Amino acid sequence: MSALDTNIEKLAGFLARFQDTGIKNRIAGQDCDGAGGVFQTRSPVDRSVICDVAHGTAQDIDVAAKAAADAFPAWRDMPATQRRKILLNVADAIEARAEEIALCECWDTGQTIRFMSKAALRGAENFRFFADQVVQACDGQHLKSPTLMNVTSRVPIGPVGVITPWNTPFMLSTWKIAPALAAGCTVVHKPAEDSPLTARLLVEIAEEAGLPKGILNTVNGYGPDAGKALCEHPLLKAIAFVGESRTGSEIVKQGADTLKRNHLELGGKNPVIVFGDADLDRALDAVIFMIYSINGERCTSSSRLLIQDTIKDKFEAQLIERVNRIKVGHPLDPATEIGPLVTQKHFDKVASYFDIARQDGATVAAGGETLGDTGFFLRPTLFTNATNDMRIAREEIFGPVLTSIPFSTEDEALRIANDTQYGLTGYVWTNDLTRALRFTDRLEAGMIWVNSENVRHLPTPFGGVKASGMGRDGGDWSFEFYMEQKHIGFATGPHKIMQLGKA
Ligand code: NAD
Repeated sequence: MSALDTNIEKLAGFLARFQDTGIKNRIAGQDCDGAGGVFQTRSPVDRSVICDVAHGTAQDIDVAAKAAADAFPAWRDMPATQRRKILLNVADAIEARAEEIALCECWDTGQTIRFMSKAALRGAENFRFFADQVVQACDGQHLKSPTLMNVTSRVPIGPVGVITPWNTPFMLSTWKIAPALAAGCTVVHKPAEDSPLTARLLVEIAEEAGLPKGILNTVNGYGPDAGKALCEHPLLKAIAFVGESRTGSEIVKQGADTLKRNHLELGGKNPVIVFGDADLDRALDAVIFMIYSINGERCTSSSRLLIQDTIKDKFEAQLIERVNRIKVGHPLDPATEIGPLVTQKHFDKVASYFDIARQDGATVAAGGETLGDTGFFLRPTLFTNATNDMRIAREEIFGPVLTSIPFSTEDEALRIANDTQYGLTGYVWTNDLTRALRFTDRLEAGMIWVNSENVRHLPTPFGGVKASGMGRDGGDWSFEFYMEQKHIGFATGPHKIMQLGKA
């Protein structure tokens, strides 16, 4: 039996239960129907219906928010060491079911098994990392003065809402939920309507691993009703959101009346800048990896290649050859490098840029066409002879589509790189250290890698500037968001108190 057939058979076993019962909401440890009935989730591989999903509305969000609020005091007051132990158990339990998570994620989103098997394990690592921070996160700072002992303590902010997108949904959900739980918050999670499978697995795994009921609640549904209700709910103190920039702006507006604290991880149109003095073989590998892996459906992908004119022709020729060899196919085949895009709507959007590029005068140097008519497959695409004012250089396409733009000087490269509404990541390839220091200092991005692809390191800050986001995750930055700082001053000496109204 081929690896693909084995994976298909295993997947069928994992999906059978969803096909019987559908995916329910999970509130206070109970399976619940949605007040809006059901909607269906489909596979982008062959457009088949996977199963029914509970359609949550404001009514369900209200029940879930109350469950999270009821569960909050006990979770907040649990000794940090015990909370740490539970979260480590969740990490182990995710690892034990990593294959199930990866196969379901691929079928639900079109992501390939070669990348998703790693993403499931990264989900476990997110829990493990933040579990280990729990003890420190509860600690405060003790600041002495002659007459006061000043204690700064941190307390969890309360029940919070987490809203996640469909791209690598399991990993991104754990990335938000693990630190929230570690900080002592309880959570209402609204996963993306287009990828509900692995969010269901996460809440189930967490409860089986010992997470008390009501600490993590999952309500499926659409953004304008369930998502909006989450942002507006007075019992929820903060919203951690990952998604598009224009949705991020809605999140802020919707939370204004209840003065929500917001953390926004939004879109990107990230530049990779390759100078003539770089190690071009490594740069080529990284350029290809950072736009064509994960179907290009990745916020940190480098979708604009800025290439120095001295090496442009040679680099682009090699790029075209490699892009044409990328294997598009069934996502459960371990040899596949690009699977189908997530939905019909997203597929149509990405494919529409093939004509837009031609109309704007760019060259379609590789790809530029869709494949077959059963699933949402298209060829990895490279546009050359582009300028930064074209739509293919300005808009987030969010697929396996790269736009190559030439530059001649460092100043020109910097101007083009920064000429965008976004500022999530940047990648700089040069062997000139002084240039790397100068360039990264002026590049407008929240995260920059020099001579490297994106390598996530959990203790470092993750987040964007400009329209790419507000706030940072990772290490202690996550606890800044999910906790409040509280100051308490204890008098330790007879300092003079000003006396009013005394004769
Ligand atoms: P999206 O904004 O359409 O949806 C994201 C989530 O928001 C979904 O759960 C959706 O139901 C919900 N939502 C939609 N409208 C809402 C509203 N009015 N109120 C509350 N919730 C609402 O994004 P998407 O298409 O699912 O995801 C792709 C986008 O996510 C891309 O722009 C990508 O760059 C971005 N992204 C960013 C990061 C990052 O770390 N910066 C990571 C992954 C994805």
